[in-house]
Amino acid sequence: MRMFVAGEWIEGSEQEQLRAPYSGEVIDAVPVATVQDVDRAITAAVRGAEYQRRLTAYEREEILRRAGDVADSRVDDLAMTISRETGKPITEARAEASRAGHILRLSGFEGSQLYGDSLPLDAAPNGGRHRLGFTVRQPCGVVVAITPFNFPLLLVLHKIAPALAAGNAVVLKPARQTPLTALKLIEILLEVGLHPEAISCVTGSGGVLGDALCSDQRVRKISFTGSTSTGARITKTAGIKKLSLELGASCPVVVLPDADIELAASAIALGGYANAGQVCISVQRVIADRAVVGDLLDALVPKVEAIRLGDPSQPDTALGSLISEGEATRVEAALREGARNGAQLLTGGERSGSVVTPAIVADVDPSSPLSQDELFGPAVAVSAVSDIGAAIKVANGTQFGLGAGIFTRDVSNAVRFAQEVDAGNLHVNWTPLWRADLMPYGGLKGSGVGKEGPRYAIEEMTEVKTIVLHGTA
Ligand code: NAP
Repeated sequence: MRMFVAGEWIEGSEQEQLRAPYSGEVIDAVPVATVQDVDRAITAAVRGAEYQRRLTAYEREEILRRAGDVADSRVDDLAMTISRETGKPITEARAEASRAGHILRLSGFEGSQLYGDSLPLDAAPNGGRHRLGFTVRQPCGVVVAITPFNFPLLLVLHKIAPALAAGNAVVLKPARQTPLTALKLIEILLEVGLHPEAISCVTGSGGVLGDALCSDQRVRKISFTGSTSTGARITKTAGIKKLSLELGASCPVVVLPDADIELAASAIALGGYANAGQVCISVQRVIADRAVVGDLLDALVPKVEAIRLGDPSQPDTALGSLISEGEATRVEAALREGARNGAQLLTGGERSGSVVTPAIVADVDPSSPLSQDELFGPAVAVSAVSDIGAAIKVANGTQFGLGAGIFTRDVSNAVRFAQEVDAGNLHVNWTPLWRADLMPYGGLKGSGVGKEGPRYAIEEMTEVKTIVLHGTA
């Protein structure tokens, strides 16, 4: 496929092949963008932002509504593209593609709801009675969106759709391994009448293009989803800009003695292994009370061993490949290292190419790398604790704070967990691997800054201006 830069589909000076992570077959080739392409994209986006800003909210909403309807009609094609470029099972890819229409329409609606405040200026000592004050929101201008490989449609949509709905222009840099779905989304937006300079999509290496995208003074807002280390680098290069950073995690699930153990085991067998564990809100740490850790493992092991591995294109496959053989090798090594350091590998953890069998590691020391570092693979690390106080301490004991879950039938425990665990999204009687697209979504601590979800993203992609009308006294 070609990339779309400054109003044109272009081949670029160089192309690189994309391979399906599961089979290794070549599926397509895309341009390797240069920093000159980035400059052209931003120059066009400055003009695109001027155009977008003059559209009414009604007109912007109409475009996104039409895009949503076209996305609904292309779910099969989008799902197949997602599955091929990520190695994700087709059923998961279809679930991702099916959300596109809703996110586009919801964003369009939220973009039409840019209310302001009226200010009671007469309440200020110097306010008097002859002034009126109010706030209005306006678009930021040029938004740079940088996205990871794991949800190549969903995470692109959660940036592009609110940005356009709010009246901005966007320069998108999708993950190097997964540009095809993003380019198909750009096709849809252009088809329904988005101004060609309101969007560009540069394909290629973040390491090469990232600084040019993030340091440019014409960019007012960066919306980034990816690893904590890349996010940290962006904060250094960005300068004075608005930043949203959706970063890494090592999400905990607490299981108390009064939990429904069968429910907890079923939810963990989904929440730790969907998309081969390559989900920021994946269950990585299971923190179980000593009284029930044995029962929980007895229930969990057969469920995890029953997860069907295979070709991602087949409808009965539940676990495909990781994004690359390199990533699979890294995950396998982390599990082996955990076992060498005293943890027990109860099942799984074997690698073949880019596939890793689903693993459970027990007796994990909460201070060890298997708990502390983001694994991003199909495994959960189980640690035993003495009570809810210890469980909360362990849950909070990493640099991250994205999502967390607890299984308990006791409301007091649930309330204590909700009040004391520092994470952006908390789930009672489910794992953190659950999201409705309208929710505010984003992490605390090293998991990031800012919220997504169309209403909240639009707040972050607009600026507030205060207007005072001075009458005569
Ligand atoms: P990554 O390596 O940080 O890459 C993310 C994006 O950043 C890619 O487009 C990448 O381009 C680009 N990039 C690389 N170097 C850059 C630089 N110097 N400046 C600007 N951009 C740069 O992350 P990933 O491995 O693709 O994704 C996995 C990570 O994303 C995990 O940590 C996961 O937890 C996190 N994530 C977080 C959320 C959330 O909502 N909190 C959601 C999903 C994923 P290239 O692909 O070309 O390198």
